[in-house]
Amino acid sequence: MKTPGKYSIETGPIRPPNEGSAGSLLIRATRNCPWNRCVFCPFYQGEKFEIRDVEDIKRDIDMVKKICSGQFDTSDFYYESVYMVRGWCKGGGKTAFLQDSNSLIMPTEQLIKVVKYLKDSFPSLERITSYARADTILRKELQELIDIRKAGLTRLHVGLESGDEEVLLLIKKGVTPEQHIEAGRKAKKAGFELSEYVMPGLGGRELWEQHATNTARVLNNIDPDYIRLRPLTVHPKTELHQMRMRGEFQMTSPHERLEEIRLMVESLEVSSVICFDHFLNGWRNKEGRSLFDMSYTGYKLPDEKERILQLLEEGLEVPESMHFDPRRSTMTSL
Ligand code: SF4
Repeated sequence: MKTPGKYSIETGPIRPPNEGSAGSLLIRATRNCPWNRCVFCPFYQGEKFEIRDVEDIKRDIDMVKKICSGQFDTSDFYYESVYMVRGWCKGGGKTAFLQDSNSLIMPTEQLIKVVKYLKDSFPSLERITSYARADTILRKELQELIDIRKAGLTRLHVGLESGDEEVLLLIKKGVTPEQHIEAGRKAKKAGFELSEYVMPGLGGRELWEQHATNTARVLNNIDPDYIRLRPLTVHPKTELHQMRMRGEFQMTSPHERLEEIRLMVESLEVSSVICFDHFLNGWRNKEGRSLFDMSYTGYKLPDEKERILQLLEEGLEVPESMHFDPRRSTMTSL
């Protein structure tokens, strides 16, 4: 419940881990998800998608500026807003993330206004990023994307999830592999840094091989800057949970997922950085520590491909019971 007279800088429920904690300023440009049908996603169920008014977003940015200046009364703000902004300022105020799940969908002119206002308000900003659906990238003209990028939105995070047609249909992603390729290439052509998110385990026991090989094929055709792995868990609120309960979807084990990632990595011919930067990549090495470097800097391909394959081999030699088992977790993968 809101207290009259107190200001709250609006934030949404999710952001990429590397845009988290005090790292990135969170500015909510849109609310919820305009697609909202992916069977594994619990985040925006029942929530209506909205594009926020530019003036409301600018007011949030003004309030961030006020808190950063130190010239404010703490009782005028909700604690969470002050906490987020102070942490961000102390960290140098270098990056910002536009929430929610697909803010690229904003009319181009409005999005440019928001990004420019943010940049003008904080000259310290080096990077502004957003999630973007592939179909939204395809709907914008190339020149619009270039204009948005030139205004200051420089990195897009795209949920590829899988490059396999059958898996994409099963999970109701609403995008085909070829559309993913076209959108990824278009984003790169417009000059964006591109992160593609892949979901190990999404093919289940039935489709894991084609999930691995076709995801590699799509990534090879895009060659994104980053490939980020987000292993699947199944939240009880999702349609995928119902499918699992009915026996229509069988989750893979920790070792089976390592096999899947190995098949994908072996098939990759990219110059991307591959990142295991999410706690659900919780495999263990022989010493019981994290198998992969879970930092945001990841492993550079192709130079470190052999290193990743060695680690995968090591993970397969560790008893399965020592690994984090996604079949017993309901934590979310996004
Ligand atoms: S995974 Fe992304 S696109 Fe799919 S419903 Fe969730 S937020 Fe929307």
